Amino acid sequence: MLSNPQETIRVIKENNFTFRKNYGQNFLIDSHVIDKIIAAAEIDKSTKVLEIGPGIGTLTQYLAEAAESVTAVEIDDKLIPILEKTLADYDNVNVIHGDILKQDIGAIFGGEPFKIVANLPYYITTPIIMNLLESRVPADSITVMIQKEVADRMKAEPGSKDYGALSLAVQYYADPYLAANVPPNCFMPRPNVGSAVIRLKRLEEPFVKVKDERHMFKLIRAAFNQRRKTLANAVKNFEGLSYSREEVENALTSLGLDTRVRGEALGLQEFAALSDALS
Ligand code: SAM
Repeated sequence: MLSNPQETIRVIKENNFTFRKNYGQNFLIDSHVIDKIIAAAEIDKSTKVLEIGPGIGTLTQYLAEAAESVTAVEIDDKLIPILEKTLADYDNVNVIHGDILKQDIGAIFGGEPFKIVANLPYYITTPIIMNLLESRVPADSITVMIQKEVADRMKAEPGSKDYGALSLAVQYYADPYLAANVPPNCFMPRPNVGSAVIRLKRLEEPFVKVKDERHMFKLIRAAFNQRRKTLANAVKNFEGLSYSREEVENALTSLGLDTRVRGEALGLQEFAALSDALS
């Protein structure tokens, strides 16, 4: 297995591989962390897994042992021949060379349920996760290593400093659970930031019912774009929203909310109700 510094260095040297920073390449070198990822993802021999960014195949080997099958999508062409060697012993792994943001993931699994597991490239964490949640791919859960600060924002509650548009977007679709904090020395090379493993369990139905989802998320973006302002002032003329301050204040009053409330104090239920009252 690859999950230790010596083996990782050997594979890298043997293949003359150089890390590409622009692809967010920080490879895992700690088997305890990998065990925690697999446990948090609740994988067994009946699970189909999609892995994003297998790197040299470290996490992939463990996934292949634990799951029914693994499909791994890797963008870096230099890693494809390396993966052929490191995964040669596993006949339940399929590597796709490509950009995860351009894959038709639903088609890969033909409508069958699956789970997503990854040590994500941090530079595109939010687009990858939002893309997966918004496109409603039939993944039961997404268990990923991400920047600790982003994990804190995903699970933040109203009123906390980390609470914002990302918290609301993630919690609309999924139930977040922080499975582990992971220090930089568990990776090669070491990232400049702390990391965390977060599991997002997809909700059967979105957390709230709202007439126009896009309208609600526009209000949310407006609220947190200028988070020091009152909600009524922040929403006024934001990205094509044509509400006056009075209109927003009236809607807030009709919901029993203070007219001077800030977005950071409102939960999803309240944003949904406000969106319905305004639209
Ligand atoms: N899974 C490996 C591990 O844990 O050691 C590598 C994780 S590394 C943090 C992220 C991986 O994602 C790299 O292998 C990188 O080349 C790949 N990657 C970066 N951008 C990608 C994209 N858009 N689509 C697919 N893979 C990508």
